[in-house]
Amino acid sequence: MLKVAKFGGSSMADAAHYRQIRDIIVSDPARRIIVVSAAGKRNSQDYKITDLLYLCHAHLKYGVPCDSIFETIRSRYLGIRDELGIDLPLEDDFDALFADMKTGISEDRLVSRGEYFSAKLLAKFLGFDFIDSELWVRFKFDGSIDQEASYTALARAAQGRSAVIPGFYGIMPDSRIKLMDRGGSDITGALAAAALDADVYENWTDVSGILMADPRIVKNAKTISRITYSELRELSYSGAQVLHEATIFPVREKNIPLNIRNTNDPSNPGTMIRDSFEDEAPTEGPLITGIAGRKGFNIVTVTKNGMSSEVGSLRRILEIFERYSISIAYAPSGVDCYSVVIENKQFEPCRYACLAELQKELEPDHIHVSENIAVVAVVGRKMVFRTGSSGRIFAALGESGVNIRMISQGPEELNIIIGMKERDYETAVRTLYERFIH
Ligand code: ASP
Repeated sequence: MLKVAKFGGSSMADAAHYRQIRDIIVSDPARRIIVVSAAGKRNSQDYKITDLLYLCHAHLKYGVPCDSIFETIRSRYLGIRDELGIDLPLEDDFDALFADMKTGISEDRLVSRGEYFSAKLLAKFLGFDFIDSELWVRFKFDGSIDQEASYTALARAAQGRSAVIPGFYGIMPDSRIKLMDRGGSDITGALAAAALDADVYENWTDVSGILMADPRIVKNAKTISRITYSELRELSYSGAQVLHEATIFPVREKNIPLNIRNTNDPSNPGTMIRDSFEDEAPTEGPLITGIAGRKGFNIVTVTKNGMSSEVGSLRRILEIFERYSISIAYAPSGVDCYSVVIENKQFEPCRYACLAELQKELEPDHIHVSENIAVVAVVGRKMVFRTGSSGRIFAALGESGVNIRMISQGPEELNIIIGMKERDYETAVRTLYERFIH
């Protein structure tokens, strides 16, 4: 049994968290491969080490001294070390880094040191080996990750060892360090889990999992205990702030379950994400797994008598949006009218040019733009088994006075997408939560 456990920035913020992490790791011998972030914020006034490192580099770029920022970074790590009594002389490493900064260092290399020092310290604290991500996370020249080469390299490096690995960076074919996107340690953890065929990938953070609805709208929203990868994809596509797509991909591909856990509440089972839950009765439990949504959409509707029998008109409409690099979120249609739901921030800069081309190339009877549209996605793998799900959902919204402007349901019945005016958005989310989850 092997568990890859990734600890995020807030879990690495101070010595007290290092102790919590040690307890978590000691409590389960399967937790042998640990991936870490740089130290995060200890409180809302604090700074993330990664941000400070970016700031250092910006200073270097413009020739402004950054000694005091560097000292803040250095003392954060040395402070954790001394409080925990870890016997690791990091001073030389910091001096060497500071010297490199004077003579020129790439932004990626400098910023990657946050994760590097975190991993070095935690490895020593746990008595685990340190495996540098320079040795195994391989990028291709186009910036994408070379999964096969990375997996082979880690499988070889980690064989039979208990180790701590820094997240967030890897190496280019020309041996330069390259960073991933922000939040990239999640991706490193997923890659490590996939490389080593782990039984589970645990992602330890400061919340007890994915919430069923946006907590800014629904107070005390419950945590999702089980969700499939497809449902998660639906929720994140529709606006839920969950893991980066690139995190899901490597573990999903290998059918490895992903468990989101809370470092500050380790007995909470968190959210378990897997391909399917064979053991569950489809008619038991809540109908809805989660609700997500977003404001800031427009619905553009093109109407022309007889258009549905014309071959190629939908393609021509879509091509015009493609020309302006506008991605179509949803495309509901009616008889002789096609609509596209698009994000306002993509549409606004080219609105008139795009509408003029629709007018010219399709010669429609009418083009209508509905503005200030919000989209709510109701997601649930069990909706397929329960007759009348959509009827109940729409009835509930109707009773709350939400006027529905657009409906779309995926053929796999995993989601129901509902478009409405932005002013109805919060009411819709709250109504659905209270009726179907609470
Ligand atoms: N430290 C990096 C960031 O702040 C990566 C991570 O924590 O996942 O984005």
